[in-house]
Amino acid sequence: MLANFKIILVETSHPGNIGGVARAMKNMGMDQLCLVNPKIFPSADATSRASGASDLLNTAEICHSLHDALADCQVVFGASARDRTISWPELTARECAEKFVSSEPSDTKIALVFGRENSGLKNHELDLCHYLLRIPCNPAFSSLNLATAVQVVCYELFVASGQKSESSIGDKNETPLASTQQMELFYEHMQQTLLDIDFLHPEKSISIMRRLRRIYNRISLDTKELDILRGILRFSQNHNNK
Ligand code: SAH
Repeated sequence: MLANFKIILVETSHPGNIGGVARAMKNMGMDQLCLVNPKIFPSADATSRASGASDLLNTAEICHSLHDALADCQVVFGASARDRTISWPELTARECAEKFVSSEPSDTKIALVFGRENSGLKNHELDLCHYLLRIPCNPAFSSLNLATAVQVVCYELFVASGQKSESSIGDKNETPLASTQQMELFYEHMQQTLLDIDFLHPEKSISIMRRLRRIYNRISLDTKELDILRGILRFSQNHNNK
């Protein structure tokens, strides 16, 4: 039931944490683990902390960038303990589980991204996320151990997956949501068009593009809607060139 959720760990330093994550996932019936540039992997520490879940370590996908890891995902959560200066839309682990377990087409791939033990996720990595995911806890001591954070989130997904009734599976949008890769191509196209029509200044483009991403991230575009927007961009570029 949770086969469409993928856990992504970014640049994990301690291999024991990777093993702890594998164990936490398997306890909750999840098996898709992806590691972006792990510092030390494979490792005996990871295998021993995984206990009976070393099969997840053997099948883990290894990527060289978060961008690659997300290419096939349509909905992306970035787990963070910290307040950010830019406010991304935020959900708690429970709200994420209630909203997304079974509410999207079953082939919608949902990524949950977890950051480095010492410094979390960087803003440019959160730019690739649709939502911030927060585990509510003591505001004066809010940073959980990485494997513990994954455990809490997977537990909420597991509980929500048991509670979803068949009736809630009825009102689905059958058109697949756009993948991260398709959205990235769209943002490149939009940025280029906005530069071509002199709407964007190259120096201001980072902050404007970040705000535009937030708008589109809020609405989960499907592939047909994305085709229309790409068509509008092509049209305005052609018009501008006339
Ligand atoms: N010191 C880091 C936190 C590292 S904890 C920082 O300042 O950001 C490692 C990872 O566990 C975080 O990047 C985040 O993905 C997850 N995590 C820890 N506590 C969390 C919380 N309260 N809510 C959501 N994710 C959390």
